[in-house]
Amino acid sequence: MRVLVVGAGPAGLYFSYLFKRANPRCEVRVVEQNPPDATFGFGVVFSDKALEFLRGDDPETYDAITPHMEQWTDLTVVLRGAPVVIDGIGFSAIGRLKFLRLMQQRAASAGVVPQYLKALSSVEELKGYDLVVAADGANSLVRRGADFGTTVTPLTNKFAWFGTSKLFATLTQTFIENEHGFFNAHHYRHSPEMSTFVFECDAATWERAGFARMDETATMAYAERAFAHTLGGHRLVTNRSVWRNFPNVRNTRWHAGNVVLIGDAQRTAHFSIGSGTRLAMEDAIALAKSLLDNNNQVEKALPAFEALRRPIVDKLVAAAEASGSWYDRFPEHMKLAPRDFAWSYIQRSGRIDPARLRKISPKFVDG
Ligand SMILES: Cc1cc2nc3c(=O)[nH]c(=O)nc-3n(C[C@H](O)[C@H](O)[C@H](O)COP(=O)(O)OP(=O)(O)OC[C@H]3O[C@@H](n4cnc5c(N)ncnc54)[C@H](O)[C@@H]3O)c2cc1C
Repeated sequence: MRVLVVGAGPAGLYFSYLFKRANPRCEVRVVEQNPPDATFGFGVVFSDKALEFLRGDDPETYDAITPHMEQWTDLTVVLRGAPVVIDGIGFSAIGRLKFLRLMQQRAASAGVVPQYLKALSSVEELKGYDLVVAADGANSLVRRGADFGTTVTPLTNKFAWFGTSKLFATLTQTFIENEHGFFNAHHYRHSPEMSTFVFECDAATWERAGFARMDETATMAYAERAFAHTLGGHRLVTNRSVWRNFPNVRNTRWHAGNVVLIGDAQRTAHFSIGSGTRLAMEDAIALAKSLLDNNNQVEKALPAFEALRRPIVDKLVAAAEASGSWYDRFPEHMKLAPRDFAWSYIQRSGRIDPARLRKISPKFVDG
């Protein structure tokens, strides 16, 4: 069997590892446009119990990654300088590059060595394989080869992704207001030396602040001034820290012929719920399992993958959409008092009702 995996992000690397481990005699070709040590952004967070979903079926990968993670049990929401701690909302984080390196090692352990600096440039190149796995992210080129019923809807907020040497105690959401409007920073430690700092504002604030006329360095300097109190004298660092609108990618069909979509190519989940990477890895697990259960008969395995996985993904995607739209209206929510604001924040995805919240976060609810 000849398999082509396009993209060596979390989805592509993990699928190729799982598939090759189960089918050592099959050919698995992975192509990746970037070099192995290039990545955008800084860290990624995982909600809840991090990689708990891996522990049972893939303890080696779980053991390879978890020692490198930063973990904490509380989340802090800061509104105009007033912090509110929400206890029991656990997250863990890791540098994205560190994570990719570990996944590259896992893939290599199964005999998969991706071809780096090799971009798929046309869907013509997908011919001649028994299975094509589109793991080429939100702007997937593979998707253009067939009708997957794709829609891409950008959110209205703008965000840019920075890093900083300031080590934050918990995952923190800081909301501020200045002469131009309203800003939010999602910030958390992703290694013993570095934190991630996602800088976000609504479209009207973005216009008033004049970001369209600023380069990356000027934008960084603005963010440092706006969040001087939060950064406590630390600087930000850039890494392709360009302004973007988060794209909600959806596909009504996940497979066409021998081509299947996984990870962000299949759907994105707003970064505020910290689930994109996990979803990408769970797609890989589900696809590899479906192939195994169907003796690698692609025409049976792909529909089975979608039928089993879609209800689970749809639930999380609904939560991510609700969370993304809460962020798109955050200046409105900022009219609330700090505790009411934190309450609105924690209820935003519709996944935590008050009774459940009382169990998870008794101190916050009592407060
Ligand atoms: C600001 C922001 C913050 C985020 N924070 C988090 C977070 O905290 N936690 C979390 O879990 N998720 C987070 N995410 C989401 C997470 O980054 C993605 O969900 C995850 O990386 C998806 O993995 P993937 O492998 O599907 O896609 P990607 O990571 O996008 O990988 C796709 C790969 O395909 C390659 N590729 C693309 N086109 C081609 C081509 N034509 N030829 C060859 N290679 C190609 C790309 O170079 C890339 O390496 C965040 C996203 C954003 C935008």
